[in-house]
Amino acid sequence: MGTTEMEGHPVDVGFHVLHTAYPALKRWVNLEALEATPMDPSTEVILPSKGRRMLLGDALRRPSTLLPTLRSVGPFNALRLLRWRQRARGRDLEAPMDRPSPTIDAGFADQGFSEGLRQHVLHPLFAGITLDPERRERAAFATFTWGAMAKGTMVMPKDGIVAVPRQLASRLPPNAVRTDVAVEGVDASSVTVDGVHHAHDKVVLAVPQHVAARLLDVTTSPDERRTTTMVYASSTPPMRAARLLLNGEYDPDHSPVLHVHVPTLLHPRADGQHLVVATLLGAHEHTPEGVQERLLSWFPEASTWRHVGRTDVRHALPNIPTHHVGRDHLPVDVDGVLLAGDHTTHPSVQGTLRSAERVLEALGVPLPQGPQDLTRPAAVEVTA
Ligand SMILES: Cc1cc2nc3c(=O)[nH]c(=O)nc-3n(C[C@H](O)[C@H](O)[C@H](O)COP(=O)(O)OP(=O)(O)OC[C@H]3O[C@@H](n4cnc5c(N)ncnc54)[C@H](O)[C@@H]3O)c2cc1C
Repeated sequence: MGTTEMEGHPVDVGFHVLHTAYPALKRWVNLEALEATPMDPSTEVILPSKGRRMLLGDALRRPSTLLPTLRSVGPFNALRLLRWRQRARGRDLEAPMDRPSPTIDAGFADQGFSEGLRQHVLHPLFAGITLDPERRERAAFATFTWGAMAKGTMVMPKDGIVAVPRQLASRLPPNAVRTDVAVEGVDASSVTVDGVHHAHDKVVLAVPQHVAARLLDVTTSPDERRTTTMVYASSTPPMRAARLLLNGEYDPDHSPVLHVHVPTLLHPRADGQHLVVATLLGAHEHTPEGVQERLLSWFPEASTWRHVGRTDVRHALPNIPTHHVGRDHLPVDVDGVLLAGDHTTHPSVQGTLRSAERVLEALGVPLPQGPQDLTRPAAVEVTA
């Protein structure tokens, strides 16, 4: 969860939203302090080759989107989407992952969605959520995210998504965290940094999947998920609502811009300029000019935009085997080393926070009821 700055405005490193429905988020994060603003609950889909746009609204929240949504997806798909929504928003959002599940694409076919809806809406939407053009994930994970979208809102903090880890870190005693050092080795009672072994009573390893695999000497999938955003400045916003404009013809080779959004519609820039963020996936080399050229069929005025920066994320999300059953992917204790991180549970902020909670549970540390429990300095005791 990273944020950089472009022309004095925070820009997230990769498109990232915060789902307010995540139960672990409610225990750890004070959303009010983040000055987080909700995105528009509708998604718009564009077919660039036809110049057509379709609206996929949440009619239960915005009744005015009912008719345009029905026109876009048809009554049968709309009913199926609604049925999925009601099923997914159960009390325990993660419960679907505890049962055997087909892959995402097989799950969509099983639910009876039309070929057109799958190809033009669901496939690009979930390529964005899994950061994988091939959507190698479980249908149960898709249901978990669909439930989170139905049950809560998707918000963006005023200072960017990095405000979330910053808020968590701000509660730690000063000097408890040493940054900008790479750990070279771990075991149950020591950490190696710069060739020096440091003895500890407990070791928690909270690194990305590929780093954990190297440090624990285990094999994982060599596949790497990557995402790039290309950011442009414009004096007028090319969209009116702070929502995603999704490419219904998304194809990593022939139509590689997955979606576009305008974060400055949620958190305006002081100078009134707008930032237009185009998201791409995979390892292809993209140039600012090439992406801008592609966007001309989305927005004729794109030729007037000014390129202001780009972000690239390597190893963006872990690979969890699609045949895996369970909300947790790895045991919390591997040879005495306690494991945290999204690859130990599932690839989301909920999965990541739960992975940290599992470590606390293993250590016998009570979980907070809410972020108000964490403001007392004595609530968390950290030993380096
Ligand atoms: C672009 C993008 C968009 C996303 N959007 C969403 C979303 O909308 N909703 C959602 O729920 N989830 C989303 N996610 C997923 C979510 O952000 C991640 O699952 C979560 O941030 C992973 O946290 P983590 O602590 O497991 O890993 P990380 O945040 O990657 O933390 C691992 C840490 O380990 C450090 N490290 C690596 N190697 C070493 C070493 N050798 N020694 C010491 N430290 C090391 C790294 O510097 C890093 O700080 C998104 C992810 C990405 C990349």
